[in-house]
Amino acid sequence: MMRPTPKPGVMDAPLYVPGDHKLEGIDEPAILSANENPLGPSAEAVGAFRDGAEKLHRYPDGGANELRRAIGEVNGLDPNRIICGAGSDELITLLIRAYAGVGDEVVYSKHGFAMYRITAITTGATPVAAPEKNLTTDVDAILAAVGPQTKLVFIANPNNPTGTYLDDSEVRRLIEGLPSHVLCVLDAAYAEYVSRNDYSAGAGFVDDYDNVVMLRTFSKIYGLAALRLGWGYARAEVIDAMNRLRSPFNVSSAAQAAGIAAIRDTAHVAESVRHNDEWLVWLTETIRGLGLEVNPSVGNFILVGFGDADRCKRANAFLESQGVIARGVGGYDLPEYLRLTVGTEKECHMSVDALKGFLATE
Ligand SMILES: *Cc1c(COP(=O)(O)O)cnc(C)c1O
Repeated sequence: MMRPTPKPGVMDAPLYVPGDHKLEGIDEPAILSANENPLGPSAEAVGAFRDGAEKLHRYPDGGANELRRAIGEVNGLDPNRIICGAGSDELITLLIRAYAGVGDEVVYSKHGFAMYRITAITTGATPVAAPEKNLTTDVDAILAAVGPQTKLVFIANPNNPTGTYLDDSEVRRLIEGLPSHVLCVLDAAYAEYVSRNDYSAGAGFVDDYDNVVMLRTFSKIYGLAALRLGWGYARAEVIDAMNRLRSPFNVSSAAQAAGIAAIRDTAHVAESVRHNDEWLVWLTETIRGLGLEVNPSVGNFILVGFGDADRCKRANAFLESQGVIARGVGGYDLPEYLRLTVGTEKECHMSVDALKGFLATE
């Protein structure tokens, strides 16, 4: 008897493994596994979320019009070329579904964000990993990986979990090297944290080239991960294709209301950046001072190297015993590293103390 069978690819994809948020037997662990904002959401966003409680019987605005206007206003962009999604994860899915199918290739960087590969596989497309140099996206390797079947290239900039970034000249070199029919997706989930003169999130590239998309999220600096909200900016034809595939009410009213308040609360963003600037440097230097490798990061997390996978496993177990939840990144082909979010001041000290404690056990 033939049983119903999912389409090619669906059962082949590895499951996405989210960062842990709980530790058995520890009441208030330092949750440093998901790059969430340690300062939490904007109070304005929380207020807007609460205000919507009495209207839960109403469908959301399917076009997220007010939210797109607010995003456009704050970023100086045309709202007609913005699309909102249930997290940028949904937008990644819409892009791959719109532009790739069975037999097509989706190119990404070897240690790039996991959802590009996973989503390509579930869509029946073939993921193609380009090697990296120094845990950084390698433009030449990406261009070499692009072939006649390539439909999309995904770059997380800065990249999670490595924390490294491509400067504007490298991004431009990548775009100019791509065939014009290949869509280049710049996933700038951590853009707000980057304070480098040679970095931009990518809106200018969208304006300059017909085949570029920029993705952003409210899950990281805006502290709204629970609500699932992301947005994309692209030329009108790309937005149109994505709108045809998305479900009509993909973004909840709560997410829209909180998002509008959050993006207008520039003081909260500034405070979050200030906190991160201070503690990213402190964590990096202090942990290097302990003799461990810390990959240079421009995001709100660091990648700590332990030399080999076994030692890394022991370190992770010790951190957990101290109430620190790090993120193992074996799924990114980096089994000898742990990723740690820049937490509150107290959590940063907990991380360093736990690492010191681990080294003392050796
Ligand atoms: C966290 C993250 C996202 C996912 O964001 P959501 O908006 O929560 O779906 C996308 N890209 C990268 C690189 C991330 O690290």
